[in-house]
Amino acid sequence: MFWRKKHNPQAAAGQRTDKLSSSESEHQNMTNPPTRDPSAPTAKFAIGSGGRGAVSEIDDFMAGLKRRNPHEQEFHQAVFEFVETVMPFYLDNHRYRDARLLERMTEPDRVIMFRVVWEDDNGIPHANKGYRVQFNSALGPYKGGLRFNPSVTLSILKFLGFEQTFKNSLTRLPMGGGKGGSNFNPKGRSDLEIMRFCHSMMSELYRHIGEVVDVPAGDIGVGGREIGYLFGKYKQLANRYTGVLTGKGLAFGGSEIRKEATGYGAVVFAEDMLQHHNKTIKDKTVVVSGAGNVALYALERAMQLGAKVVAVSDSRGFAHVKDGFNEDSFRILQNVKEVRRESLSVFANKAHGVTYHAGKSPWAVPCQVGLPCATQNEIDESMADTMCRNGLEVLAEGANMPLTAEAIHVLKHNNVLFGPAKAANAGGVGVSGLEQAQNAMRLVWTRDQVEKELERIMRSIHTQCVEYAPVVNGVADYQTGANVASFVRVGEAMLAHGYI
Ligand code: NDP
Repeated sequence: MFWRKKHNPQAAAGQRTDKLSSSESEHQNMTNPPTRDPSAPTAKFAIGSGGRGAVSEIDDFMAGLKRRNPHEQEFHQAVFEFVETVMPFYLDNHRYRDARLLERMTEPDRVIMFRVVWEDDNGIPHANKGYRVQFNSALGPYKGGLRFNPSVTLSILKFLGFEQTFKNSLTRLPMGGGKGGSNFNPKGRSDLEIMRFCHSMMSELYRHIGEVVDVPAGDIGVGGREIGYLFGKYKQLANRYTGVLTGKGLAFGGSEIRKEATGYGAVVFAEDMLQHHNKTIKDKTVVVSGAGNVALYALERAMQLGAKVVAVSDSRGFAHVKDGFNEDSFRILQNVKEVRRESLSVFANKAHGVTYHAGKSPWAVPCQVGLPCATQNEIDESMADTMCRNGLEVLAEGANMPLTAEAIHVLKHNNVLFGPAKAANAGGVGVSGLEQAQNAMRLVWTRDQVEKELERIMRSIHTQCVEYAPVVNGVADYQTGANVASFVRVGEAMLAHGYI
């Protein structure tokens, strides 16, 4: 067994091979958990191989999950990615299994859905869907971003809330998991339209959040501007000035480094993975997808560490920078995307030595380091195959679930170092946790203090992953490491709280 015995005290005795219940019977078992049968035969499952027992348990578990949550493809995918690696450990630990923790962890604490009505600049009213998925509060108040994008559905927010629960656990800060947002499309909307939408969204959301209840932040389509409007409305309605949102402006309770934290953290994690395998990011060729909050600062930190970043993308295409980004081209990119909110084609016209490729993915550009920082499922099996053939050595997920399950298998099969999102992009929520701490103490930390703390958090996440990661062909399996380490922490808290 690869995992440490100190975390697996019951592994040696009394494991069960009886099947996990699925579907309706799972729900019965949550209210009437079975007593353990000491005469049940002992199971032995190797991680990674899973054993036939683990494979059929995963199939049964997923069949039940799909029946209970029909048509929620992204949620199924996120749970599968987790269960696939955690199941052998789960089966070996009857304390977790007898408490039906996996069934309980895959059911959100609650889902809030509401209507958001707002008026555009022509006086025309619009109605959008608003959501908050409060997924799991075992480790602390719910914490996770808000996404404004036309693709937002309950399935996407459940996948994100599920992931967030385990990601937050890896930071070791007291944060539960949640996620929310709207199918509102902010693209092309004026500042006043954005403000009216945010105010309307908060006029319902404020009832469900609070600094010790649920603390939202940004995500796709929600940056500093949106957080400012949301915070202003909360303050007006609740008449309370508290750290109810993170990602706030520095003038009103925000933290240094929050904007940069997810991207910087992803590169710190990539460098940690490389160093753990006696390599470094310096002089390596890097491709970044996206040109938003996460992507920009992943690019900047990679550049600062001496890597050559040759491509970035947005929702309309990608920009190829043959000789690599430098300070000047990075500042132009920042201005085009962060300030002017324009397309990468504008960047390509303004910066030297850049070609723009409309409608194309950046992943065919050869690189040794891949930093997907745009959105879910941007790299499929065949793209992963191309990337491996082009010499990919390490990939750290800046975005949430940017690789399909098949793409992850291709990377692992090719011995590529793979940093899963819940570990690699946890720097953002880590600094959000630090923002909450500063707000609670009514203190402001310096940039240097926060940056050091971010690096400490990322290093601790790397250590936790390595502790539980099997090593295959000399390469640590960070996916399994992150999933099992975070499962144990959330699981121990849930066991301590009883049947909640
Ligand atoms: P932003 O909205 O700031 O940026 C998203 C970027 O991805 C934009 O450049 C956007 O293009 C591009 N993009 C969006 N959808 C697509 C698509 N379907 N195809 C191709 N490109 C697309 O979001 P963030 O940077 O905040 O978030 C990016 C990812 O990182 C998400 O998966 C998010 O969940 C994850 N994440 C974010 C954290 C944070 O702190 N912000 C923390 C942890 C994870 P365009 O510029 O044209 O809009």
